[in-house]
Amino acid sequence: MDSKDVVIVGGGPAGLSAALVLGRARKKVLLCDAGTPRNAAAEHIQGFVTRDGTPPQEFRRIGREQLRPYDVEYQNVRVLSVERLDSGFRVGLEGGRVVETRRVLLATGMVDVLPDLPGYRELWGKSIFQCPYCHGWEVRDQAWGVLATDEHMLDFGLFVTGWSKDVVVFTNGALAVPPEQRSRLEHAGVRLEERRIRQLLVREEHLHAVELEDGARVARQVLFARPPQRQTPLVQQLVGQLGLALDEQGFVRVDEPHKQTSVPGIHAAGDLTTLLQGALVGASAGAMAGYMMNHSLNMENATRGG
Ligand SMILES: Cc1cc2nc3c(=O)[nH]c(=O)nc-3n(C[C@H](O)[C@H](O)[C@H](O)COP(=O)(O)OP(=O)(O)OC[C@H]3O[C@@H](n4cnc5c(N)ncnc54)[C@H](O)[C@@H]3O)c2cc1C
Repeated sequence: MDSKDVVIVGGGPAGLSAALVLGRARKKVLLCDAGTPRNAAAEHIQGFVTRDGTPPQEFRRIGREQLRPYDVEYQNVRVLSVERLDSGFRVGLEGGRVVETRRVLLATGMVDVLPDLPGYRELWGKSIFQCPYCHGWEVRDQAWGVLATDEHMLDFGLFVTGWSKDVVVFTNGALAVPPEQRSRLEHAGVRLEERRIRQLLVREEHLHAVELEDGARVARQVLFARPPQRQTPLVQQLVGQLGLALDEQGFVRVDEPHKQTSVPGIHAAGDLTTLLQGALVGASAGAMAGYMMNHSLNMENATRGG
């Protein structure tokens, strides 16, 4: 039987980082990636020390290349199933390969559910961003908009004034703005636009204006937004089949610092576990999961006498 110490599901920053740790710790690893990274629409990864400005595909290529010296097998393939065995797990891959493994690391990221608003999908990653730490510098002092889908996003309108003083918060008619938040925005010079949005106007692949329900246009160059997220189909499947626990926000629950999920032997790291999402944060979590999985494997081997 095809067997490994660890199967890692997901070859983004979290999975690659865990694979490097485990490979260097002499573990037999299979790293599977379906090739659908969260930042696929972005041109560069920003804010990652030594990799600032690197295209996402290049980042992953370097990550995979640096795994070559180790016993890490990389497959560009989707993992379809994870079944629990008496000892370890059986992992089923697209194409029919089945692998037995002692541990599984879920590093599957999250899926952003983009709204149907005309222009949104086209502009995602080009003029619509989720994180000012990732993309704020490049668009500093430009005309910013914030799509406020909840009350926290109203305060986000205040926060982003650190990058641009020209900020409009759009509620898209979906929020009753409390008076104290209204006056805080006003005090900070942030405009509030409460009319519904009809469409986002695109010019040369970038945002040009936000068109409101009555046809009025608000000239904007970038929008910051937090579209809802969901877990990948595999994680949803494991919630049903193995009782993998999610927290109240829908992230996979892990214990710190081990990154073990509610299913012993299955660990998780990266975006799927937290709202604090970023490439470097994911890579750090992946490394920590790698350390902890390796520790438990070494201790298990040593106490078994082998
Ligand atoms: C538009 C955009 C721009 C961003 N820009 C930046 C930036 O500049 N700087 C920054 O720090 N962060 C940025 N981020 C955030 C950053 O991309 C994520 O935080 C980071 O990629 C998370 O890493 P991860 O390894 O957890 O998940 P991901 O990078 O999403 O990788 C998960 C991988 O798992 C794979 N997968 C899922 N299910 C399966 C399965 N069943 N079998 C096999 N593989 C599977 C997917 O195909 C994917 O490749 C950006 C995000 C977005 C949306």
